[in-house]
Amino acid sequence: MDTGRALDADGPTEKCGVVGVSFAERDAALPLYYSLYALQHRGQESAGIVTHDGFQQHSHVAMGLVGDAFSEDDLDALNGPTGIGHVRYPTSGGLDSSCAQPFSVSFKSGSLGLSHNGNLVNAGELRSELENLGHAFTSDGDTEVIAHDLARNLLEADLVRAVKRTMGRIHGSYSLTIMHDDTVLGVRDPEGNRPLCIGKLDGGYILASESAAIDTMDGELVRDVRPGELVVLREGGSGFDSYQLVERENTAHCFFEHVYFARPDSVIDGTLVYEARRGLGRRLWQESGVDTDVVMPVPDSGRAFASGYAEAAEGVEFAEGLMKNRYVGRTFIMPTQDERERAVRLKLNPIRSTVEGRTVTLIDDSIVRGTTSNQLVDLLREAGAEEIHMRIGAPPIVAPCYMGIDMASREELIAADRSTEEIREQIGADSLAYLSIDAVAEVLGEVREDLCLGCVTGEYPYDIEDEATDRDVDRPRIDDQGLPADD
Ligand code: SF4
Repeated sequence: MDTGRALDADGPTEKCGVVGVSFAERDAALPLYYSLYALQHRGQESAGIVTHDGFQQHSHVAMGLVGDAFSEDDLDALNGPTGIGHVRYPTSGGLDSSCAQPFSVSFKSGSLGLSHNGNLVNAGELRSELENLGHAFTSDGDTEVIAHDLARNLLEADLVRAVKRTMGRIHGSYSLTIMHDDTVLGVRDPEGNRPLCIGKLDGGYILASESAAIDTMDGELVRDVRPGELVVLREGGSGFDSYQLVERENTAHCFFEHVYFARPDSVIDGTLVYEARRGLGRRLWQESGVDTDVVMPVPDSGRAFASGYAEAAEGVEFAEGLMKNRYVGRTFIMPTQDERERAVRLKLNPIRSTVEGRTVTLIDDSIVRGTTSNQLVDLLREAGAEEIHMRIGAPPIVAPCYMGIDMASREELIAADRSTEEIREQIGADSLAYLSIDAVAEVLGEVREDLCLGCVTGEYPYDIEDEATDRDVDRPRIDDQGLPADD
């Protein structure tokens, strides 16, 4: 269904960002706050920090962007040298503060704080089981399911064994930062679907979804947390201990992190995201290059792809042909369909001298619903482009994501039941080509079997418990005004 939403709102929506720190002497709150700022692109609905001062937990969780969620007083009250943080986009659970994270709970053998990036595929089953055992839930998110299961296991086992037991029961994608009393730990699911890395900071250590958070703190990336690994940050920020709790033959890294979600300046699973995007752009030229007067990116998502494509094309002009108004977005009110359709003109303006009377290659990272691509082609035609050839730095998205990415429902995906030629016709381009799956694997330095490619093949690395419980039913999506989307 065409909602008229444009640009970022048409694309997949970011998931969540998690962070955890342990210092010798320094308070954790401010480093966590800055790290969450660095991860803001991974979730804009709510932000939260939980710290521990050696005696008790301190928590502040609020709706909104990081800069709005914390006042100086809030940060002052978050005492202690250890803590975890979270920025959230709701992939499971409701669009309200009860699902904001970190989730914290006190139980018989101490306190737990938990930040989760990902989506469990068996949360419903586990929730019923725990409810039958007397656990009462305060939210409908899957993070609380993990917290209750872990709390239960901690009554009978030490920390490492309790985490291992919980990992044996939860299925799906998860990168977690956990605070058990004043100990901070990080866990990555056995397939490594979601990213998580370790960094060294001045006087301590950090766990974060992306290395850009470590850079922001002037830290040094140590390495990625391995799939199935538990990392426990030592007290006093003196180092970390590693426990390989689960091993699998194959991983299932989400290739879309490199294509779309992660910051270009992050290193994920050993690859700088910016370089990966340029590499995908180069392969795009090799697979489906077309001679045109100019190559231009869809801002900002297509820029790194377009620079790689233009480099491989040798000698072709690389220019900006569309200018983005960065101030239109969350706060701009667009109550009617007409006004929403107008939003593309408010957000983007063609640079007429780049496109008028010329043949154009327009590069983007992906096409989800096709709404935006159609509007961009119209804009460029109105600005006088003679031919418009679209090249996409990822394969066609043919199926939804069940691992925590708000991709769109199957019915909304333009490539779910259309050929490339039918899509080309619908968006109005003169030609259209996508990158092949093999090229993605090759550029990311992985074999196909070690990547999650569910949204481009329809084959997932996990058994999906019940497709009907997924996004089509009650999963909220935020539009570009920060409001629940109406489609
Ligand atoms: S289905 Fe697609 S978006 Fe979802 S985890 Fe797999 S590769 Fe990533």
